[in-house]
Amino acid sequence: MPVSTRINPNNALNFSGGPGALPQAVLAQVQDAILNVPEVGLSVLGISHRSDWFAGVVQELENNIRQLLGLDLSYHVLFLQGGATQQFSMVPMTLLHGKTQPPEYLHTGYWSGKVLGEARHETPLRVLWSGEQEGFSRLPRDEELQFSADAPYFHYISNETVEGLQFNRVLGRDDVPRVCDMSSDFLSKPCEADRFSLIYAHAQKNIGPAGVTVVLIRDELLHDMPDNLPGWLDYRSHITAHSNYNTPPVFAIYVVLLVTRWLLRDVSGLTNMSAINQRKAALLYAALDDSDGFYRGRTAREDRSLMNVVFNLDSAAREQQFLAASQRAGFSGLSGHRAIGGVRASIYNGLELNAVEQLTQFMRDFQQKTR
Ligand SMILES: *Cc1c(COP(=O)(O)O)cnc(C)c1O
Repeated sequence: MPVSTRINPNNALNFSGGPGALPQAVLAQVQDAILNVPEVGLSVLGISHRSDWFAGVVQELENNIRQLLGLDLSYHVLFLQGGATQQFSMVPMTLLHGKTQPPEYLHTGYWSGKVLGEARHETPLRVLWSGEQEGFSRLPRDEELQFSADAPYFHYISNETVEGLQFNRVLGRDDVPRVCDMSSDFLSKPCEADRFSLIYAHAQKNIGPAGVTVVLIRDELLHDMPDNLPGWLDYRSHITAHSNYNTPPVFAIYVVLLVTRWLLRDVSGLTNMSAINQRKAALLYAALDDSDGFYRGRTAREDRSLMNVVFNLDSAAREQQFLAASQRAGFSGLSGHRAIGGVRASIYNGLELNAVEQLTQFMRDFQQKTR
């Protein structure tokens, strides 16, 4: 291969939108566990999901998530398969029982569009606000939202991964169950989790590999629900079975446990994690803002995501040049989502500040050389 096209990825510079980069310290432990989990003497890939060890993994992970988010026993903590996408359906299948009013949703980006598509198979619904006309370039302000008191629930996405839009406040009424897809910012900062009735987040953006989705659900939501759901689609099956209703993804759950241990012991909690994530995002947005328009942020400043920094250059050709040069320099995962193109730097928990410093330096150098 000619040198100019050789790709030379460096895992520490993986800005992938998902599956995202995991902390190096966790990867080292995963490597050991593939060969031998010390307390068991077997590879993590071959340990029974019915073992005492795995029951302990689930219990510790549940406790860690409760501790990180300050959740009491009125919430169930579940580890499910099917990804966030399965929750798009399970939420209306569970929460609409006996209700006549439509649930309320926001349409703030690509992933909310997917949520709406699935929810509409289950129910008529009300879209309270849509950013589609404005190309999903901003999020709604409070004045633009009229929540109904009699809605069975209100659903939104805390961080729109594709467009790079993130809410920095909790939305909705306190007397209507709040449901949130936090797949791309879960455990990246404190989130007032106890103001939500149901939170779901798959692991593969911020807290682990693909294969497991965390669901936090308030017990009172399950008092009135349909009795004719297939067993797997009934949250109560998973609660009774301690997330072991059928064979769970043992490996993925174990890696998420290692990530929560890292958050608790190495990072010392979500307030610290949030401070680190803010510094990373501030560096990148400053690189955009100080570039005299060479790099253009896609979204309104007040709605900028701390997880996904999405930007454009002045032409698609220039973007291709940028992406190719970034790959040669060892960066990866910087192409924008296939739905919108451009450039996206995803800076999840596992990506270190130093990697962002290297990217901003690369951006300055690229700008200089191109001018
Ligand atoms: C990536 C993403 C999804 C898709 O999740 P799957 O696990 O692939 O079903 C859903 N919601 C958000 C916010 C995402 O970022």
